[in-house]
Amino acid sequence: MKLKIITQEKVVFDEEVDAIYTKGIDGEFGILQGHIPVMSALDIGVTRAKIGNSEKKFTTMGGILQFKDEECLILTTLAESGEDIDEARARDALERAKRRLKNAEARIDAKRAEAAIARAEARLKARLSGESNLKM
Ligand code: ATP
Repeated sequence: MKLKIITQEKVVFDEEVDAIYTKGIDGEFGILQGHIPVMSALDIGVTRAKIGNSEKKFTTMGGILQFKDEECLILTTLAESGEDIDEARARDALERAKRRLKNAEARIDAKRAEAAIARAEARLKARLSGESNLKM
């Protein structure tokens, strides 16, 4: 089956894959070949594509997933390949956002800090390799 990950800027990924695991607003789910058609809103998280014995990871920051006719289309605000993520930058962003959350005086500040934390955590998960880091 095919996986396409598209942002308004570019096609981030467009290849044949064997399985897809992602994070919807109602939780994580997977799609294997033959899955019934599905449409789901995505959370800020990691999308994993299994290709044979290997796996590719991407951040997918919100948007929508549609699966039908053995094609999975993800239209998302921001998507980054794990390989392109700067780990140190994500760690800094995480620390900064946690500090902001602690000091947030308004609800809107807290919401923004929480979103920044979710982005940074997704980036670290997509960047790090190994089975122990595969959980989203
Ligand atoms: P930061 O505070 O480090 O900028 P952020 O969460 O505010 O993090 P975003 O606004 O989500 O950053 O992204 C801005 C741009 O920077 C996007 O193009 C995004 O792909 C890129 N970007 C952000 N963090 C990283 C990272 N850790 N590694 C690679 N690219 C990143």
